[in-house]
Amino acid sequence: MAILKVAQMGHPILRARARAVTPAELATPDFKRFLADLVETMREYEGVGLAAPQVHRGVRVAVIEAYRNARYPDAPDVPLRILVNPRVTPLTETRIEWWEGCLSIPGLRGLVRRPRKVRVEALDGTGTPRVFTAEDFLAVVVQHETDHLDGRLFLDRMDDLSELSFQKEYERHHLAHESNAREPGRPSRRGRAGRGARSRSRRPTTFTAEVTP
Ligand SMILES: [Zn+2]
Repeated sequence: MAILKVAQMGHPILRARARAVTPAELATPDFKRFLADLVETMREYEGVGLAAPQVHRGVRVAVIEAYRNARYPDAPDVPLRILVNPRVTPLTETRIEWWEGCLSIPGLRGLVRRPRKVRVEALDGTGTPRVFTAEDFLAVVVQHETDHLDGRLFLDRMDDLSELSFQKEYERHHLAHESNAREPGRPSRRGRAGRGARSRSRRPTTFTAEVTP
């Protein structure tokens, strides 16, 4: 296995639509090795997900995995999932907001709002069709990773670029703000109405966490 080089924002492969993987290709030793390398690379850089274009390979594959640790205090455990040719369908108009980061955009965090619940259809690493429902954190990670397969980055999904932050300032200001917002009895703060409103009065344990897919 090998640690692969991660493409950084500005590399054209991060803006290209990845091609589908064929069943024959998926069965080859070369591809199995690639999947193992993708997983190893995700773990090496402590990502909770990694998409093939992020390691300079334009195929529709992403891997996802998270275990509770200091970097993701509010994130539930997510067992390893390999998504080949995934299709994601929103199941709700309710949106979840999350401070996202990306191994291809190091040092930045941005507040992104996405559908809170999605249906995922994909092949696993053995070519077996899998269908599951992803909610909250898992829904965020799935959508972030599958966006990579269409050449989209989390910055494209942001409603408001004033909610973009360097990691250090995010930890200093926004994490502190979110922690304050968790205190019981704190008056809820209403933002703008409608789509894109800042819903600071949300249930923070569900709606706020760090994620660096
Ligand atoms: Zn990413």
